[in-house]
Amino acid sequence: MARKIQAIRGMNDILPDQSSVWLYLEKTVAEVVKSYGYQQIRFPIVENTDLFKRGVGETTDIVEKEMYTFEDRNGESLTLRPEGTASCVRAADQAGLLFNQTQRLWYTGPMFRYERPQKGRYRQFHQIGVEAFGMASADIDAELIILSARLWQKLGLLDHVELQLNTIGLASEREAYKAALVEYLTEFKDQLDEDSQRRLGTNPLRILDSKDEATQTVLKNAPSLEAFIGEESQGHFDRLQAILAANGIASVINRRLVRGLDYYGKTVFEWVTTHLGSQATVCAGGRYDGLVEQLGGKATPAVGFAMGIERLVLLLETLDLIPTEATFSSDVFIISMGDEAELASFVMAEKLREARPSLVVLRHCGGGNFKNQMKKADKSAARFTLILGQDEVQQGLCQIKDMSTGEQSAYPLADIAKGIIDKL
Ligand code: ATP
Ligand code: MG
Repeated sequence: MARKIQAIRGMNDILPDQSSVWLYLEKTVAEVVKSYGYQQIRFPIVENTDLFKRGVGETTDIVEKEMYTFEDRNGESLTLRPEGTASCVRAADQAGLLFNQTQRLWYTGPMFRYERPQKGRYRQFHQIGVEAFGMASADIDAELIILSARLWQKLGLLDHVELQLNTIGLASEREAYKAALVEYLTEFKDQLDEDSQRRLGTNPLRILDSKDEATQTVLKNAPSLEAFIGEESQGHFDRLQAILAANGIASVINRRLVRGLDYYGKTVFEWVTTHLGSQATVCAGGRYDGLVEQLGGKATPAVGFAMGIERLVLLLETLDLIPTEATFSSDVFIISMGDEAELASFVMAEKLREARPSLVVLRHCGGGNFKNQMKKADKSAARFTLILGQDEVQQGLCQIKDMSTGEQSAYPLADIAKGIIDKL
């Protein structure tokens, strides 16, 4: 027998019993974002490597060690997208959607990062991203957070996630802070973990969210970013908090929250949960006013977030929050005996689907004797089995069997759709 080929490590198949949860989540998101006026954008999975180097940042974890980069047959360096924001900016700017206008956009799809696979962390994972362009004030930051809170509320997750907020100020404020932080940390360099030692020279802000205990101890007396935040950034942050409070959205200020990507400024936020171990963040985002210009467009304020679908699915499953309507089940199973009855069963199945498009109607295919077909009907877990034999067709009847009670009765074939719908 030929050797079977396995999926790539960290890249998962979403099997039929899981895909209904995905569909439920995706449908709920699509409804919520639409209700806030966001339109979907779709862009390729592969981009020029430079887009992510410039867009995400050379010294970020993603660009340093997580990208799937390869040369195509022309020798061009291409990368499987590790995130959506850079691609979204590239696509929207290329289509002239950004200059002098506002845009509310969202996307969904696979992302690729070479990380150590574990629960809630994969090499192909899926994000839903929401981005707003052309709006500089805190009201749009608030709108995005309120939108995400509405989504949690719809999914039953609002009590299980916590909103963490911070402001990381303007680029100039961060530069001044970085200098102070590096000066302080250099003194304790040998007490820092290896990654943080390296980051001291490349991306010192990231040291703040190091998980290493010794590093965290050193950080206790480090200068605080808050002291470097100027009036404009602080005003923006205050306004954001005021709008959230007025909308009844609780938040926790986390001064250590900096986010991994280079492009953020002013607002950063994360929704975190205590139910998923160390893969605790289900949604993360912030303001990135510099990115469009950094990628060659005209300066355009922007703010957005991305959520991880796998982590949300895990959370919904862990908390048992998947509504029964969201799980797959069939309503009607149709069996027939003989050629004539088979033809009639097709007509009947289409009538049912026409009459009630949400009905799940399974027609048994392949014939077989009555007993075997009934076994298939039992296995299908349908609520009703419709039985069409030669005699029934000749009499213009159909047997309806209620699978929960076992009760069976004949019904006029012409009215079968009404008959089933009345019983449901
Ligand atoms: P983390 O700190 O967990 O590595 P991140 O800061 O790298 O997250 P972002 O780039 O902000 O994550 O992506 C937004 C969201 O996408 C995360 O909050 C998470 O829910 C999800 N996500 C990120 N990386 C992965 C991954 N490798 N597998 C599954 N989900 C992921
Ligand atoms: Mg990461």
